[in-house]
Amino acid sequence: MMGKTAIKQALPDAKLEQISPFLLLHHFGPTKVAPGNDPLGVGPHPHRGFEPITFLYQGGIRHKDSRGNEGFLSGGDVQWMTAGLGIIHSEYASKEFLQEGGTMEGIQLWVNLPSTDKMAQPAYQDIKRERIPSWTEDQGRVTHRLVAGQFADKQGPARTFTPLMALQTELEAGGETFVPIPSTFNAFLYILGGEVEINGDQHFFGEMLVQFGNSGDGFTLKGVSAAQVLVLAGEPIHEPVAQWGPYVMNTQTELLEAMRDYQMGKMGVYIE
Ligand code: MN
Repeated sequence: MMGKTAIKQALPDAKLEQISPFLLLHHFGPTKVAPGNDPLGVGPHPHRGFEPITFLYQGGIRHKDSRGNEGFLSGGDVQWMTAGLGIIHSEYASKEFLQEGGTMEGIQLWVNLPSTDKMAQPAYQDIKRERIPSWTEDQGRVTHRLVAGQFADKQGPARTFTPLMALQTELEAGGETFVPIPSTFNAFLYILGGEVEINGDQHFFGEMLVQFGNSGDGFTLKGVSAAQVLVLAGEPIHEPVAQWGPYVMNTQTELLEAMRDYQMGKMGVYIE
């Protein structure tokens, strides 16, 4: 397919099944295309049992689903979806992006739901860039954007089922910050681009996932070059994970039910 975006799958990988409650992280792009090309183009497909989230860094996406939601994302916007008991959705390049062409880049993240919330009512949070608290540190060399959870006295706008934090951090070369993380949280970061130094000694590069141990109260992050980082941390869900394609449940039986319910139309009807 022409102009299809390269997808880097940082999670899961051969050595790492999940970093509970985080199940999957895909980095798509940056892909530059001429007008008329859709480098994303994901047609209608179902989900159940978790929350699929899109952080769009550059480009334009149009979301549509079987629960009557339609959303348009541009650079900096976040779409936080609760699949819950079932949703069918599509993600295509927006009309504006198709007309003008440009660069598409984003992150898709799957956050698991605890068994008590797997069959929650589906929901769609369309979080525009302006709603995300943003502040700078270290003389403007560090910019944080808090999408979910708490950082000092700030609160991210995304509603979540379990305690977690999603923080977008942009560093200039030399810019340094301390990111507080509750010791009960699992934590990792994904580097979209650039080189960073963590806790004063270790260096990591673009398109790498760095997982932290559950000790201490946070970590220091310094830009060796200009760098873009997504920090994710959350209270782990200590339950079995049964996954088949787009469904994430606790047991095989529940997966079979999900397939059956989808075929019976219980996840709603997607109408283009
Ligand atoms: Mn999806």
